[in-house]
Order: sequence, then structure tokens, then C-alpha cells
Amino acid sequence: MKFRKSTSENNVNNGLPDLLIKTLQSLEVESLVLIPGEEVLFQSNGISTFGLIRDERITSEDLLALIRVVRRKNEIHRGTLELARGPIGGGKRQLDVSVSPLNDQGMVLVLISDESEARRIDAVRRDFVANVSHELKTPIGALGLLSEAILGAKDQPDAVVKFATRMQNEAKRLTELVQEIIDLSRLQSSDPLQKALAVDVSDVVREAVDQAQFSSEQRGISLEIGEIEDATVIGDREQLITAVHNLVENAVNYSPEHTKVSIVTKRNGNIAEISITDQGIGIAESELNRIFERFYRVDPARSRLTGGTGLGLSIVKHVALNHGGDVKVWSKEGVGSTFTLQLPIARDDEGSAS
Ligand code: ADP
Repeated sequence: MKFRKSTSENNVNNGLPDLLIKTLQSLEVESLVLIPGEEVLFQSNGISTFGLIRDERITSEDLLALIRVVRRKNEIHRGTLELARGPIGGGKRQLDVSVSPLNDQGMVLVLISDESEARRIDAVRRDFVANVSHELKTPIGALGLLSEAILGAKDQPDAVVKFATRMQNEAKRLTELVQEIIDLSRLQSSDPLQKALAVDVSDVVREAVDQAQFSSEQRGISLEIGEIEDATVIGDREQLITAVHNLVENAVNYSPEHTKVSIVTKRNGNIAEISITDQGIGIAESELNRIFERFYRVDPARSRLTGGTGLGLSIVKHVALNHGGDVKVWSKEGVGSTFTLQLPIARDDEGSAS
């Protein structure tokens, strides 16, 4: 049987009723109608993005096998197809496929949806929940043990004071951890550019440095604001302050006492660059590309001592990316580190003198 292109008189398109075509075109998923010989009678507009059809032939052996099973058994079958994302790189794309028999002559309907993104988000979420649970267990376990220790030492006031003080520290750590988890999940679900406001970079830097004044004084570290070139960026002021503050806190935490942390802001073309430089312990080159991962710490024991959660830099990275910017790091062990937050300068501000 040969099918002809549609004519408006008979409302038939390649032998398929217009109503069916309209229905298929309006579905969220992509669709294909095939007859034996794998001749394509209909394909929805988006199907070409999957690269499943070349020269009007189906290229996926897995899909062809699924179609054969459906014809043989005359019942609906569902499966998953894994396709390469492109000619290079190992990126895969996972498609959910359902194949239904439409008539006794072997005509089948193939429905395809790309579930890769949904699966990726699911995996990230599962990972995050597993990490969070693991991170919460440590301070909660410590609180349990310390309370037992207090009960056991109730007649020794000195010991009670010692354990209670440690309990306070653990509770503080737990509060910080929970706050950072909340910050991070807020960042992941919000887009600062949707309620974008003009933000003055020097104001962000001053505020972030002010917030770090206390902890730096305690460690005898001097915070020096160097050259600040004025720039305006578009975004969320609070998020930007948090990002710069995290970088300053890290610079303080990972530096020996009585060293210097300096903060400068420069305009580099249409990018504002906020750089925080310390004379601290530095980071090995092999670790540099991992430090922005959630919960990653080069030295978990040291990070715990400083109250680190391993979330600070992933928050910075998120803020930077959400603002259309980025964060870069230069570091050398035993010499120090420079973290640079790069943010696009607001267009109205681009022409102004630097
Ligand atoms: P943390 O809460 O542990 O500080 P971050 O995400 O802020 O977590 O940083 C991740 C890790 O990167 C830290 O545990 C530390 O090992 C390393 N790091 C971050 N900033 C610095 C710095 N300025 N100097 C040296 N190491 C740093």
C-alpha cells in the first residue's frame, strides 16, 4: 500500500487522519508512525533532534528490535534507548520509548520522551540527600555522646563544663551546616536575574569584609581592602555578599595567624573581578578542580576545626553562575591562594570610567 501526501479535501495525511496528526503534534512527547519496511508515515517536529532517523530510516537497532517485538506480540512495549549526545565526548542521552500497534497491518506508533534531564536532577538530588544525611550524622552523633558523658560526670563540675562547652560547639556547627544547606537549596531553585537589581560591587565587598572582621581579628589576620574600581552588576545583593564573605572567611580560615588577606576589585573589559588573596596554606593542584564540589574538603579534619562544612565554595560557584559569572582560583601550597569572583558589569555601567 502506498500513501499519499495530505490533501485538505479528504483530511488525510499519508493515510493518517488529520485528527490523529493534530493529536500527535500537540503531545508533550515526540512521535513517529511507521509501517512495515520501517517507512515513516508521520514524524513530529521535534523528533529530528534525537538523530534517530537518517535518510528516512531508523538508525537505532534497539528501537527496531522493540518495534519487531511489538509487531510479533501485537501489544504495547516500553523501553529505554541510550543515544550518544554528539559525535565526540561520552555524553549519553536517555530516551523513554513506548511502541504501540495501531492496526493488523503492522502500523505502529512510537512515542519518545527525553528523560535525561529529569534523571540527572534526580541523581543530583539523591546524591545531595545522601551527603547531607552523612554530614548531619557527625555532629548529631557527637551531641549524643557528649550528653552521655555529661550524665556520667554529673558530680564533677569541671568535666560537665568541658563537655557542655563541646556540646555548644557541636550545636553551633550543626546550625551553620543547616543554614548552608538551606542557602544552597535556595540558590539552586532561584534565579537572581529574574528580580534583578543594580548592585554596587564596592558596597558588596565592604559589607562582606565587615562581616568577617570579627573572625579575622580573633586570628590576628589583617583584612585589607586594596584598590576598588567602581562597578555595577545586576543581581541579588545578599547572594553576592554571601559569596564574597565565604571567600574572605576561607582566606582567613586557611591562613596562619598574623598574615594578611587582601581584597581588590578591578574592571576587566565588561567583567568586574573581585579577588581575595591570602598568604595561607594553599591548595595542591590536584585538588583545585574538586574544591567547588559540595562537601568537598582537602583536609576534613582541619576544615572541621574551623567549622567548615565543605559547602562554602559550592555556594560561591552557584552565586557566580546564577549571575552569569564565574569563579577562578590560583593557588600554590605554602604560598597562598587567590580566588576571583567574576561578574558581568551592568550594561548601563559599561561606558563609565574605570
Ligand atoms: P569549608 O567549609 O570546608 O571551608 P569550602 O567549600 O569553603 O568548605 O572549601 C572547600 C575546601 O577548599 C576547604 O575545605 C579547603 O580545603 C579548601 N580551601 C578553600 N579556600 C581555601 C583557601 N583560601 N586556602 C586554602 N584552602 C582553601
